[in-house]
Amino acid sequence: MAFATLYQNTIAANLCVECGACAAVCPVKAISYLPHETGSDPVLTGKCVGAKCGLCYGACPGAEVPMAELEKHLFGRERDCRTIEKQLGVFKSAYVGRAFDPELISRGASGAVVTAVLLYALEHGIIDAAVVTGPDREKPWLGRPVVAVTREQLINAAGSKYNSVRQIAGLEEAVARGCKKIAVVGTPCVIHAIRKMQFKDPYQKLVQYITLTIGLWCSTRFTAHGTAFLIQNRLGVPLDEVKDFTYRAKPWPDQFQVTTKDNRVVGEPWLSLNIAGRLTGPFKPAGCEDCLDATAELADLSMGDSWGHPLASPEELSRGNFYTTTIIRNEKAAKIFQAARQAGYIACQSVPQADTTFITRNNGAVITKIHGNAPKVRLKARRGLPTRNYTAR
Ligand SMILES: Cc1cc2nc3c(=O)[nH]c(=O)nc-3n(C[C@H](O)[C@H](O)[C@H](O)COP(=O)(O)OP(=O)(O)OC[C@H]3O[C@@H](n4cnc5c(N)ncnc54)[C@H](O)[C@@H]3O)c2cc1C
Repeated sequence: MAFATLYQNTIAANLCVECGACAAVCPVKAISYLPHETGSDPVLTGKCVGAKCGLCYGACPGAEVPMAELEKHLFGRERDCRTIEKQLGVFKSAYVGRAFDPELISRGASGAVVTAVLLYALEHGIIDAAVVTGPDREKPWLGRPVVAVTREQLINAAGSKYNSVRQIAGLEEAVARGCKKIAVVGTPCVIHAIRKMQFKDPYQKLVQYITLTIGLWCSTRFTAHGTAFLIQNRLGVPLDEVKDFTYRAKPWPDQFQVTTKDNRVVGEPWLSLNIAGRLTGPFKPAGCEDCLDATAELADLSMGDSWGHPLASPEELSRGNFYTTTIIRNEKAAKIFQAARQAGYIACQSVPQADTTFITRNNGAVITKIHGNAPKVRLKARRGLPTRNYTAR
């Protein structure tokens, strides 16, 4: 197992998810990345240690994610496929809610519950850092990993950046800075990488300080090229004039929005076919085509939009009432979430497992992955093409 294996089984097979794990674990720092504009591929820029190493391929979630094995390690059991767990993963409880703090709500993608839970954990010593995603300083339409250690940094990173972000590079930075209680926020693929590493000795230096994982539900990410294309061609703003960018600026209907260097605000509703529809179609990265995990099934807490829940009706959203749905998957996460609730960081109501049809019917993540990607992946496998192997799923 060497970089050549990673190249053959993941990168050349169109299965790379750009999580950053391979470069972070390489003991001789021989792996770096092509720029986003040219596809973000990991490339060998140093001398690979070769067959006696294999750490990059062992951490990579591109070609293989042993779901059943990891579920047993993490939750003590595999999901019950006779229930909604077949689509949502191991499920302890779920809540629809939002942050109490209006500043958080104004900055969050939906109900800002991710930021509120992280803030509670930071302010109560449960974590000393959170690996979140902020805008790239030079190219604000791209996300970059940020190690947040203050309230201000957490709030500045709130909101969704719908492109591929190498969160494992952020984890590496947090460890290098001496953080000992780290929360990581990531899309399902980032959580897969973490979980693949957590139960194997050689990766402990990188993953041993993770105390909480928050997974974001995810229908797909968008290529850097796609976002840049829409900014230029749909909003008519040249990239060198972009000062700030957000995929979903409030108030409702969320705007795909640029602030230019001369302070003009130019946007278009996020959910219009021209924005979300175009991004999810032609600008989906190849590695997302094989993803079958809609709700970050291996995270401690998994959070997404509450589309379709009565609390998140268009009327409520237009009144500024945004909501996040949280799936709690284990006892540790339940304790942190309930403590944040009791301390007044979040307000929420419980969603019994039987009432989760609003997720499976309406959420773009479930529709894209379970109903869209799954049949295509089965077809690829039947034709002998490389696909991601979710062992025993
Ligand atoms: C690529 C992507 C696709 C998504 N697709 C769906 C979907 O189909 N359906 C759905 O219901 N929800 C989806 N979500 C989740 C949704 O956009 C919100 O993040 C979620 O509802 C939580 O909202 P919030 O207001 O509680 O989060 P906030 O309080 O705004 O916090 C969001 C946190 O996520 C971090 N973050 C932002 N972008 C990234 C990123 N790319 N990688 C890692 N961390 C990041 C932020 O830094 C922040 O810490 C997606 C998110 C992403 C990043």
